[in-house]
Amino acid sequence: MTGTGNIVAALPFPTAAKPKLADSQLRDNLRRATHTIRDKRLRTVAELPEWERLRLAGAAIKDDVLARLPELLVEFEAAATAAGATVHWARDAAEACGIAVDLALSTGTREVVKIKSMATQEIGLNEALEAVGITPIETDLAELIVQLAGDTPSHILVPAIHYNRHQIRELFARRMPGVDLDALTDDPAALAEAARRHLRARFFSARVAISGANFAIAETGTLVVVESEGNGRMCLTLPETLISVVGVEKILPTVRDLDVFLQLLPRSSTGERMNPYTSAWTGVTPGDGPQQVHVILVDNGRSDVLADPVGRQALRCIRCSACLNVCPVYERVGGHAYGSVYPGPIGAILSPQLSGAGANATLPFASTLCGACFEACPVRIDIPEVLVHLRQEIVAAAGATPERAAMRAAAWVLRDRRRYSAALRAARRFAAPLRLVGRPDAVRHLPWPLTRWSASRDTPLPARETFREWWSRERA
Ligand code: SF4
Repeated sequence: MTGTGNIVAALPFPTAAKPKLADSQLRDNLRRATHTIRDKRLRTVAELPEWERLRLAGAAIKDDVLARLPELLVEFEAAATAAGATVHWARDAAEACGIAVDLALSTGTREVVKIKSMATQEIGLNEALEAVGITPIETDLAELIVQLAGDTPSHILVPAIHYNRHQIRELFARRMPGVDLDALTDDPAALAEAARRHLRARFFSARVAISGANFAIAETGTLVVVESEGNGRMCLTLPETLISVVGVEKILPTVRDLDVFLQLLPRSSTGERMNPYTSAWTGVTPGDGPQQVHVILVDNGRSDVLADPVGRQALRCIRCSACLNVCPVYERVGGHAYGSVYPGPIGAILSPQLSGAGANATLPFASTLCGACFEACPVRIDIPEVLVHLRQEIVAAAGATPERAAMRAAAWVLRDRRRYSAALRAARRFAAPLRLVGRPDAVRHLPWPLTRWSASRDTPLPARETFREWWSRERA
């Protein structure tokens, strides 16, 4: 069953990316933020001589999980149930939202506090809760910024990366109820203090919390959330009911496996040696923390991804966003251009696989294939390999197209030296008048039917002289 929810782009990538490329403020915000995080990451990764061995271990553990996922999920369900949690299974976004909404409604609450969670964004849980009159309150600072702005996240880890602090100060002044305008400056500490005061009352009054999970341990039924602000710890301990929405690929076999991932994740995501808050809970502890604990295990297209021997490596992802921070395409267009909650290189391979290529068919082409994402990925997902694999599938499914005919013709020409030389001579004759009216080395706009080709790139003109010609002239 293919996935549904906020993973399907409304517009093709080139269309969505065009206005972003013209937004110099956005590019400035992105460049500043991604370069700061990536430099920090490089410094903390360099401290560990065993980093490459950790990456190999992370990939091997995840591959083992994917090889026996059904068995591990059943083991997790049994252990979590024995510890007092209730485990639910959801095939797609609608089913997962339905279960979560029914659970929230059954408590009689009109408000839930939320920990930042990609799974809940993926299934569109906030929209589903609002539709039945329940207000979801995002408690992660960046998610709160995005929610107050009525915007959508543009980065996995830093959802408000497209805002700078001046814009955030303006937003808080306009939209944050009861904010102290005299104390509100664009100093990061003042902004964090305003958010802290705004959220504190909600933490104390909320009866229901909704979380995701970074890891789900099969042997013990434990869920683990890794975060930086302490808002997660508040949500996981204060309310009476906790609903955790977890993608099925988040399973780890044993507690010991956390040893590897708690080293890989903070260094890759925020460039920290360890994250400030790691919360782990196993079912219900009488008299301590939430007394109703529900876990919703979500498939939403993951079984389809698992069935693809090349594409399944995308399910190793631990959502650290290191690949976003090094991607030259992401840095120029930001996350919204990808049209899915999963932006950047991982989004370009995960979204089309979860949803089926269809509306996301342009995403695998949103890459230069430079390979920086693979180098940065802590679980060694070969994103360029999957991109090429998906491109092949999309091109094959498209059947006969003018581009395909052109590539076939090019292949026919390039297979034979005489044909190639004749084509080169023809191209040079065609280029001669163009050199007189434009740049000497390239043309910006080609005539129809090649207009689309040159719409977003310069077309180099053939060299005035080939190497063979130069060689015979110089050495004859
Ligand atoms: S693909 Fe790798 S680098 Fe990108 S978010 Fe996932 S784990 Fe991190």
